[in-house]
Amino acid sequence: MAAQIIDGKAAAAALRKIVARDVAILAARGLKPGLAVVLVGNDPASEVYVRSKAKQTLEAGMASFECRLPADVTQAELLAIVAGLNGDDAVDGILVQLPLPPQIDADKVLRAIDPAKDVDGFHPINVGLVATGTGGIVPCTPFGSMILLKSVRADLSGLNAVIVGRSNIVGKPMCQLLLKENCTVTVAHSKSRDLPALVRTADILVAAVGRPAMIRGDWIKPGAVVIDVGINRVADGAGKTRLVGDVAFAEALDIAGAITPVPGGVGPMTIACLLRNSVDAAVARRG
Ligand code: NDP
Repeated sequence: MAAQIIDGKAAAAALRKIVARDVAILAARGLKPGLAVVLVGNDPASEVYVRSKAKQTLEAGMASFECRLPADVTQAELLAIVAGLNGDDAVDGILVQLPLPPQIDADKVLRAIDPAKDVDGFHPINVGLVATGTGGIVPCTPFGSMILLKSVRADLSGLNAVIVGRSNIVGKPMCQLLLKENCTVTVAHSKSRDLPALVRTADILVAAVGRPAMIRGDWIKPGAVVIDVGINRVADGAGKTRLVGDVAFAEALDIAGAITPVPGGVGPMTIACLLRNSVDAAVARRG
């Protein structure tokens, strides 16, 4: 039987609707959550993300602030901008779009963001709180991945989860979230041995590698839930490009129990979760 396709577009639309409802409730109490996005340079992919974030922020009824800085901005100038946003009461969430140019120490910039406004969840304080299961702001992509996963498997307790990829943005926080749900978690990476055998143990597979269709259908345990975080642009053979995930989708469809497509799976959830984090940050900070 073909796997259930987990519709990330519909889930994201539903989440944005809930966020907009919450924003309306806050507006009635005189509070308008605000999200500030800092964009350095003019990387085309970053431009697309930033435009999309601003559009969805406004559609949710929130305030959107954009700080566009030249590619040759200095570290000191960027830190001063972040300090200004930290002190701006109209700003509840701050997101510095990555990647940053080479003269900037990205870690230093991310650590300069007030943890209460760190809606990407990358500040070490939030990383620590999420890791200890004691609160904190959850990074948007793992947050969205968990919502999709739980939409098809409400109780994850005792299941074997395999995450392929150990980045700070996806793999590691995903590990913490799955542990909190009482999964037995394996985190694989480029030095892992016999990846197909590891993947075959997974009741839940999270692929966050960045290699098109690397995970083949016959690696997947029958009935597993597959969350494909990967976004890879490949030639479509007709002179254009298309997006594919890290999992060979057509092969996996015959074997998995449920699977997120690319595009239309985890991707749309990321901005919706950013809005959720921003509204929650506004409520937490302003009481
Ligand atoms: P990173 O490049 O930071 O991490 C990739 C991970 O994959 C690393 O841990 C690396 O291992 C591991 N890896 C690489 N090659 C192999 C291999 N052959 N076998 C096993 N593991 C391997 O990527 P990100 O986590 O930032 O992103 C991963 C994917 O998710 C990308 O396609 C990205 O575009 C996508 N993404 C999607 C988002 C969304 O909104 N849907 C948001 C963020 C990312 P090692 O550590 O050993 O190098």
